[in-house]
Amino acid sequence: MSEYRQARYPRHLLIEEHSKERMVEENPLPESIARKEAPLIPDVPEYEVARHFTRLSQMNYGIDTGFYPLGSCTMKYNPKYTEMLAKEPKATGVHPLQPEEDIQGCLRIMYELQRMLAEIGGMSEVTLQPAAGAQGEMTGLAIVHEYHKNNGNDRTEVVLPDTAHGTNPATAAMLGYKTIEIPSDDGCVDLKALEEAVGEDTAAFMLTNPNTLGIFEEDVLEIADIVHDAGALLYYDGANLNAIMGKSNPGAMNFDIMHFNLHKTFSSPHGGGGPGSGPVGVCEKLRSYLPVPIVTKKNDRYHLDHSLENTIGRVKGFYGNWSVLLRTYAYLVYQGKEGLEKSAERAVLNSNYLRKLLEDHLELPYRSLRKHEFVLSGKRLKDKGLKTVDLAKRLADHGYHAPTIYFPLIVEEALMIEPTETERKETLDNFADTVKKILDEDPEIVKSAPHNTAVKRVDETKAAKKPVVSFRMRGR
Ligand SMILES: *Cc1c(COP(=O)(O)O)cnc(C)c1O
Repeated sequence: MSEYRQARYPRHLLIEEHSKERMVEENPLPESIARKEAPLIPDVPEYEVARHFTRLSQMNYGIDTGFYPLGSCTMKYNPKYTEMLAKEPKATGVHPLQPEEDIQGCLRIMYELQRMLAEIGGMSEVTLQPAAGAQGEMTGLAIVHEYHKNNGNDRTEVVLPDTAHGTNPATAAMLGYKTIEIPSDDGCVDLKALEEAVGEDTAAFMLTNPNTLGIFEEDVLEIADIVHDAGALLYYDGANLNAIMGKSNPGAMNFDIMHFNLHKTFSSPHGGGGPGSGPVGVCEKLRSYLPVPIVTKKNDRYHLDHSLENTIGRVKGFYGNWSVLLRTYAYLVYQGKEGLEKSAERAVLNSNYLRKLLEDHLELPYRSLRKHEFVLSGKRLKDKGLKTVDLAKRLADHGYHAPTIYFPLIVEEALMIEPTETERKETLDNFADTVKKILDEDPEIVKSAPHNTAVKRVDETKAAKKPVVSFRMRGR
């Protein structure tokens, strides 16, 4: 037989031997876990699944697609080097139940991140456990509660300004506190109202500075005195530290507790439900109340320390969202102190630059100098029969994600814009030009926007309350 003929009639012995069927036959699943019936999932080929999800991803708008000026939620770009690190098998292959001596590298990263965040916040110690900003708030207020209880005080109220992020009063209410809202004076805390609101029932005052209008509370030390004189603690909502990192910090403003949003300020991706990370920092007198374990260092070894005397216990399984912690660590190492300071300067510069371009075209309530974000009012749109939401929807047609709208509640038809430090001047110029262009467009077109997106205008309330999540094949 010629060589050629042999090649034409191979017997595929090896392939037969390694066939899927053969392998299943030789390695049957144990009876107890083998399926009795085929699973109820759609019968679609792999490539159609890939096409489906690729198409969905193309319909989505993300920070990698374009400008995303979502105020108070800091959607800044997610550097790819942090993503690469988070995907490293060395990072993904560790198991939380591995013994301390096997994971010294991970513990070192967590320990150093605790120290770096403590420095950024001007706090004494930090827990990395909470999985989101709101869970950080819950952890912080649980510490407040335990602290007062230990000091023989049964304090029942949490005071907040009317500019507070919605999670603040929600968290306080979840922990059983009565929430007392105080009005603002020219966009800042009204000291007189604060003095009248705090007393022996006050457990804490929750504040962010710069506040959600992007205004720096210049009387913050006086605010701290008023709160502390009443025996209450001062909580800092540090979800967005962009304006002040490396410049000032909550510790220097005499705050006792704070949370960080690593998935906002520190360049970790967010949106779509996570994973997030909301570490909590506390001043020295509250250290012993932190959740356990925290990571400590002794004789150049790192340990999971469970020995905090007054600990509120655990707030999350294991030690926090490790992959987010790793991204933040890499980001901080890469930026360094100078990089962080520059970031803060750029965030404030960008915000004020864009404010200046837009303030004469919409309306700027309160004082003019802003920090990392600013809030405009769209109430003049009413003259054309339009609302802020219409402008926001129309931006999508022009390729932009909408800013945050209708928050904070004290600004009528609010439009909250945060350009972030990472965007270039050209982007801000183009965005401002687009807003101006929309203001000159036929109101009917604006009112029925968006027209160019995969999904047309939806009824948001209905979409949130009655989402349609069932599977339907295209063309069936
Ligand atoms: C985003 C945000 C929160 C809540 O953080 P989550 O991670 O979404 O729970 C709290 N306060 C402010 C000011 C925020 O911007």
